[in-house]
Amino acid sequence: MTHEPQTANLRYHERLKEILPGGVHYNFNMPWEEVPLHFTDGHGSRLTDMDGNEYLDLYARFGAMILGHGHEEYIEALQEAMSRALCVSHTDFDAEPLELMHRHIPSAEMIRFGLSGTEILQTALRLARAHTGRNRFLRFENHYHGNADNIMGGRTVDRGNPVPIDFKGDYKGTAGRATDVMADQSYMLPWNDIDVVESFFRERGEELACVVTEPVCVNGGSIEPRPGYLERLRELCTEYGVVLIFDEMITGMRMGVGGAQKSLGVTPDLTTFGKAIGGGGVPVSALTGKREIMELIESKKVIHAGTYNGYPLGSAAVRATFEILSRGNEAAVTNMHRRGEKLQTILRDEAAEAGLPLVVQGPPGVSSFHCCEQPLEHPGQYDFELMSKDIIVAMALQRHGVLISSISRIYPNVQLSDVDLEYFQVHARKALGEAKQSIDEIF
Ligand code: PMP
Repeated sequence: MTHEPQTANLRYHERLKEILPGGVHYNFNMPWEEVPLHFTDGHGSRLTDMDGNEYLDLYARFGAMILGHGHEEYIEALQEAMSRALCVSHTDFDAEPLELMHRHIPSAEMIRFGLSGTEILQTALRLARAHTGRNRFLRFENHYHGNADNIMGGRTVDRGNPVPIDFKGDYKGTAGRATDVMADQSYMLPWNDIDVVESFFRERGEELACVVTEPVCVNGGSIEPRPGYLERLRELCTEYGVVLIFDEMITGMRMGVGGAQKSLGVTPDLTTFGKAIGGGGVPVSALTGKREIMELIESKKVIHAGTYNGYPLGSAAVRATFEILSRGNEAAVTNMHRRGEKLQTILRDEAAEAGLPLVVQGPPGVSSFHCCEQPLEHPGQYDFELMSKDIIVAMALQRHGVLISSISRIYPNVQLSDVDLEYFQVHARKALGEAKQSIDEIF
């Protein structure tokens, strides 16, 4: 059976489209989500849509659903919280999640909670500016840090003055952006080339309030930093008095409860977390950082506010997620990584069987596949043709009952089982055969 949106999904979409722009609440939908699947149930790693089709969920809501669907201990923790206090300013839910984060995350001398990644990243920028008294931040090509005007999309045209600007055809471009906000606030460089950063710092390091980077560039294709890259970035930031911000929205929890910073051994000054930090069921984001910077919020020199910040259900979710994932020396994460590696192997083997050039790269909790011979070394290589081929594979996988996140990301969860792996093998085989045929016809 192929898994296409059928009668019930199509009808439901028609009904929504009348009053919901595009029939969705989100603009970065992939081509195969034109008519989105509406799901009715989730159990473990599986989802069922309105037409009764079952899927293996490696989409995991952009990586957030690290615990899988219906995780018993997590659901119980949420239910317990709901039965007590839904929304008041301060509760006795705060201490445990904060102490757990403080214990496990190297940069978490102090912590504040928010709701979304976009919003907490802006707070990090604000803090860095206040701390340094400087305005501009440095970011990198094909990283993603939320959908705020000053940080989404753009490209540079002048290597000597690398300010990002809007360009036609940018799928992260948007009308309605405040004039010049992107060009006035930031610089943008290619990632993973330390010489480029070194020479930029020599020229303009003293202008920078902060550098913001995904420690593993998941949004640019799950590219790992070259050996020494993050270490040298850390040194340069210290040398030039620049705040180093790791955006661990995806890598946080998925690379271990201490985040990428713990597993890679580089501690930033500030870190932003979101998605999986709350287990995936409720929105929570977090800003962690050095006491001397975070104290700017304590003294109210820098404002960080939000109606729902620190809401009980969110704090209960963070606590439960950290408890589940950190227990027994992070046994659940280790298991998830082991199965994540199996997913990688199956995909590689089945692609080889189908005669399709395909690499799978990145740590097993946050990996991506690409239809090429060699792993990508920097996000600039993730070009239109490669994305198009990857999309063909992802579309075929969905038709065969495997959901894949944004273009080509594979997100395992802690409930992924051997039966799920077998399901993946059988369905990936059919999908990759089909994808190979389509790619050969088009390219
Ligand atoms: N940073 C990164 C690295 C992300 O991947 C995302 C979301 N895809 C964000 C920030 C923005 O988070 P949110 O969607 O919760 O605003």
